[in-house]
Amino acid sequence: MNAATETMRLARLGMPQLAAMAATGKLRGRHLGLAIEGASEYHEAIASGDVASEEDQDARASTCSTCPNLTPRGFRVLGLGRVKFYCGEPFEADESRGRCGCPIGTAESPDAIKQVRVEHPGPRLMVASKQCPSGRFRAVERVSLTVEGES
Ligand code: SF4
Repeated sequence: MNAATETMRLARLGMPQLAAMAATGKLRGRHLGLAIEGASEYHEAIASGDVASEEDQDARASTCSTCPNLTPRGFRVLGLGRVKFYCGEPFEADESRGRCGCPIGTAESPDAIKQVRVEHPGPRLMVASKQCPSGRFRAVERVSLTVEGES
């Protein structure tokens, strides 16, 4: 199973199960963003196979990491502090400033937290057809899936 297929399958589990997996350390860092607040809005698109490649997700994460709209918030998994990032204030779209309020990603290493750098791309960056609200990245091709009958 390729990485995009794993992402798609996880999104199909839904928020309660993903949150439980995150709380018990069963989601690897790369997928932690699927369980943060606001992620459920993206689950349907991801579950349908609208998934960007990990390379495209990482390129978007680099772009967001240099963007003044990137906003960190703390959260905890297994008693450890992590950071989740949003595009501007969480859930507050502000078209005039090019912000959507969407979940952008997470970070867990102290360096990434200190530098306000997205370490693991989150829901907004996983969906291939989504673009940046201020034009910093575009929609990309969906990655091919490896599940029989779903590619
Ligand atoms: S989605 Fe666009 S506007 Fe929002 S933080 Fe990323 S680069 Fe900035």
